[in-house]
Amino acid sequence: MCLSGYTILNQLPEILLQDLQQVKGFDKEALIAAHQLPAVTSVRLNPNKASAAFADNEQVPWCANGRYLAERPVFTVDPLYHAGAYYVQEASSMFLHHILSSHVLASSGLRVLDLCAAPGGKSTLIASFLGEDDLLVSNEVIRTRATILEENMTRWGYMNTWVVSNDPKDIGRLESYFDVIVVDAPCSGSGLFRKDARALDEWSEGNVLLCSQRQQRILADVWPSLKEDGIVIYATCSYSPQEDEEILDWLSENFEVKGLPVALEAEWGVVETVSSKGMHGYRFSPDKVKGEGFFIAALQKKETTREPKPLRYKTLQDKKAQEQTKHLLDTEYLCLQLDKDNYVAIHPSHEADYHTLKQFVYLRKTGVQLGTPTPKEWLPSHDVALSIHRAATLPKLELNKEQALKFLKKEDFALPEGTHKGWILLTYNGLGIGWIKALGNRFNNYLPKHWRIRMEISDMDWA
Ligand code: SAM
Repeated sequence: MCLSGYTILNQLPEILLQDLQQVKGFDKEALIAAHQLPAVTSVRLNPNKASAAFADNEQVPWCANGRYLAERPVFTVDPLYHAGAYYVQEASSMFLHHILSSHVLASSGLRVLDLCAAPGGKSTLIASFLGEDDLLVSNEVIRTRATILEENMTRWGYMNTWVVSNDPKDIGRLESYFDVIVVDAPCSGSGLFRKDARALDEWSEGNVLLCSQRQQRILADVWPSLKEDGIVIYATCSYSPQEDEEILDWLSENFEVKGLPVALEAEWGVVETVSSKGMHGYRFSPDKVKGEGFFIAALQKKETTREPKPLRYKTLQDKKAQEQTKHLLDTEYLCLQLDKDNYVAIHPSHEADYHTLKQFVYLRKTGVQLGTPTPKEWLPSHDVALSIHRAATLPKLELNKEQALKFLKKEDFALPEGTHKGWILLTYNGLGIGWIKALGNRFNNYLPKHWRIRMEISDMDWA
């Protein structure tokens, strides 16, 4: 049965329920009853793009920026969603924030890998946790999904978040490179039954086994790239112990690791499990938490690894382009020319990372794309409009909701009398949504074609 887009389930797979008999905290009747209720809706706010959106809503207890919503709005008709003011994310998975806060010291020049990153829920969370000189490499092996990841990371607006698209084995060749690796593994998806009816249709005992084998392969492939004392954070949205505690046991049998527990508040309803090899994991079940099914654990690598040799490289810094673009961003950056029309701004401490990474992986997005020089002027890129570092002094035009949605649909609207000619950053609630070039009373819309809202918008939604 489907109610307001959510699946209400009267039945859960019997084999799954049997597998869960031994799992700590399992309550068959309560779990079945929770599946009669709709899924919980939540968002996570972008701390660098403050807006009024959902700020006063109930907070997700384990994540300061997480907010619950009483119902699910149509996010596509909210310009703040397009501006990157928030990310729509399932509340349980925001527990990653609590794990990071407990075990990771941000702003210490960290390199963090999010290995299975699309569409970007965990990556946007990690980006907001890190400091400017830390680097987040967000990877998605499936190219079409990597496109969505790239868009969501651009919307989030952080310079230190790069997007790559590789198989975990390619990344494993970056020996002893990352301080933290997050593996939000592809899984059988039982934790999302309430959100997505297809997860139930596709669920089978055989698929749980296939997923657990793939999870082991992914972890083994990426393992060499984790530094000594580095942390691997492993997560799934599956209830099956074969994909959760048993994977932690497999890790501890095959590698030298130490489990990393975190403190819990009893009222959160999160269940701490200890695997047979003594590894701590955290289970989320919709009969106990305000969120969907989820599992997460953190382990520390206790193997001696060799420091990679420092790399020698020739700088790609373009001093002329640096000068031509300095009006665009309000932060210290290096302007690199990657190829003919590809100029990017990166944090000065990440130049060696660019040269190292490009030897091993397909770099789809590096820092903030700056745009293109022409003989007459600099054409700014969409990235700059969405960047948290965009300069405060850029010429701006604040839009109302109807105008913002028209811009995002690439439809015309009238500019105010006296709008000056040239490049103008359009804002909604003070947040950048894109560029126009004003030419008197008309304008050219520089929103990239593939970012356009294609949905029909009703009269009610313009308001
Ligand atoms: N971390 C994401 C987030 O929070 O938005 C969700 C990730 S989803 C659970 C798992 C991802 O792993 C999918 O995007 C999927 O395309 C990717 N994936 C599938 N097979 C993979 C493989 N063999 N190696 C690495 N990633 C894989």
